[in-house]
Amino acid sequence: MTELTRKINDSIFGSVSTKELLANAFEKKKDYFGNNITYSPKVFIPLTTMCRDNCGYCTFVKSPKESGTYLNQDEVLSIAEAGDEAGCYEALFTLGDKPELKWDFALTQLKELGHSSTHEYLISSMKVVNEKFNLFPHANPGLMSKKEIKELKNHSPSGGIMIESFSKNIYDKGKAHYKTDTKYIDLRLDTLNNALEEKYPVTTGLLLGLTSTKEEIVNDITNLINYVKKNSAIQEVILQNFRAKKNTLMKNSSEITNDLFLRIIATTRIYSPTHISLQVPPNLSPDITKFLKSGINDLGGISPLTIDWVNPDHLWPNINKLKLDISTTGQVLRKRLPVYPEFIKKEWLNSKIFEKVNNIIDTDGYPKEQNEQ
Ligand code: SF4
Repeated sequence: MTELTRKINDSIFGSVSTKELLANAFEKKKDYFGNNITYSPKVFIPLTTMCRDNCGYCTFVKSPKESGTYLNQDEVLSIAEAGDEAGCYEALFTLGDKPELKWDFALTQLKELGHSSTHEYLISSMKVVNEKFNLFPHANPGLMSKKEIKELKNHSPSGGIMIESFSKNIYDKGKAHYKTDTKYIDLRLDTLNNALEEKYPVTTGLLLGLTSTKEEIVNDITNLINYVKKNSAIQEVILQNFRAKKNTLMKNSSEITNDLFLRIIATTRIYSPTHISLQVPPNLSPDITKFLKSGINDLGGISPLTIDWVNPDHLWPNINKLKLDISTTGQVLRKRLPVYPEFIKKEWLNSKIFEKVNNIIDTDGYPKEQNEQ
């Protein structure tokens, strides 16, 4: 057991009270992020619901028989236009990983759309959205090569790929990543390493609840922190709590409890580099106010227009109520771009994106329009 593993184990499962742990994490959050709790006003653009994988918890993915499809260009533009008009800054392209490698139907549809691959169609869609609107594209297309990331960087300030878990037990039969092609941890880390080489700011994170033992939780958090320390392209870590969904392999799997989740969040904040944005999704816990003083500084994307395509049963919180709840903790809800202030530098952004970002931000690196707070 390494020194860090021991510390993480003691922090999550040791005798220190949750109250004390959260207070330490909250102080560390305030040291770097001050009183800000941020969110990204965004629209989801589900470019394709098909995927070459089939994870045991996913309700986003659809086979061609289940009406899996691509959005056409008009559909992409009409979502983006509505998002732009609603004052969003992020166009989140949500999509399965290269479905054309599994489904002939996907290739046929791509050809009808004038493209030979999902990546090519994604790039063309991001280009038009970036050029036409105030929105900034951000995509989670799964595994990405260096060449693909270089092309994404031309049209977006950041991208994302979840690590999900470092545990290899979840590849076993009946487990979350059984027979998946894209969820092997080494492949996910290769993509994150590619992002570092291309200087492309990225979001990653864990899906907590896929594993079943305390040891796996401790290893996940330790490995995450060790990796984040090495990869300076990581701007943000999402700690997402697994929610069991009907009609999935994991429909009866247990979900992580609030107290354990809070201790994991606080521990991650305490041992991560200070600039790392720590996010919990705002719509996956019954009471998000419990998390506001746990060490998080961000609530991810909240859309005024579109559902959460990945967790469609879970509604977004009401922004006005959230603002009020946050103010009672002495903090302020602020909008942010899909790139964090720390990464708004020429070395991390394509020159045109850098210019577009700079036209929107204030001196703190957040969108100028903050008048409602
Ligand atoms: S890779 Fe993503 S989209 Fe594809 S099945 Fe897994 S979770 Fe769903």
